[in-house]
Amino acid sequence: RTVYVNGEYLPETEAKVSIFDRGFLFADAVYEVTSVLDGKLIDFEGHAVRLERSLNELDMQSACTKEELLGIHRKLVELNEIEEGLVYLQVSRGSDGDRDFVFPSEDTKPTLVLFTQNKPGLANSPAAQKGAKVISIDDIRWGRRDIKTVQLLYPSMGKMMAKAAGADDAWLVEDGYVTEGTSNNAYYVKDGKIITRPLSNDILHGITRKAVLRLAEEAQMTIEERLFTIDEAKEADEAFTTSASAFVMPVVEIDGAQLGDGTPGPIAKRLREIYLEEARAKAI
Ligand code: PMP
Repeated sequence: RTVYVNGEYLPETEAKVSIFDRGFLFADAVYEVTSVLDGKLIDFEGHAVRLERSLNELDMQSACTKEELLGIHRKLVELNEIEEGLVYLQVSRGSDGDRDFVFPSEDTKPTLVLFTQNKPGLANSPAAQKGAKVISIDDIRWGRRDIKTVQLLYPSMGKMMAKAAGADDAWLVEDGYVTEGTSNNAYYVKDGKIITRPLSNDILHGITRKAVLRLAEEAQMTIEERLFTIDEAKEADEAFTTSASAFVMPVVEIDGAQLGDGTPGPIAKRLREIYLEEARAKAI
């Protein structure tokens, strides 16, 4: 693979970042994942805008302009011949060559790293045809989940807990209410209504969430943005998650309770279809 590090395109084995980098020592870094279909970027604009917001919230410098970022994304997709896959981007606060809790001086250069992941069959995934089984776990993450930081240890543990339980993913629950999935936003459908948690600092403002809710509205579906419990979700007719890397993923089981007939529901399937159709049409 050819990867990008601070202005250079290099073979992955030659790419280097300092061991003092605050991304490595403090998880002082933010990231974005943009999917690629037909060799083109899905909702680059949305990801670029959210990256800017994450950086601002953490008083972190932007490593380059939006136009430069687009150029880097495109060049990596081309160099690595990605037809379907992902582009991962990470900006960390960099380092001034030592370990210190206090942020380094303002003129410290951020570290910008990008790499691609080749995922043939991403859009036509067997997992989406089967639907996901999820378990619920306590949400013990920090209080600024709207900032897309690389603090992903707990979400990783959540996926491991799901795996150990014979499930595919975990939904996080705080004060009795579902916040989101380990790496996706969460929804359930009851009597034709789509229920999902409203935006706040408690969840990531998903780029896919925004597109899917707009498409649902355009298709005259009813959406209720409100808090919901895991017990409500277990009684649902169907459920699903959204993320840039899995689009709309039907959920067929929650904590062992089967939803509907245990296969992906019609609303999740329809939303996946119209999301992918529009994403491909608008890809750049
Ligand atoms: N919530 C969390 C915690 C996530 O990690 C992600 C994926 N990055 C999402 C939601 C979905 O966001 P997006 O649609 O922008 O990928």
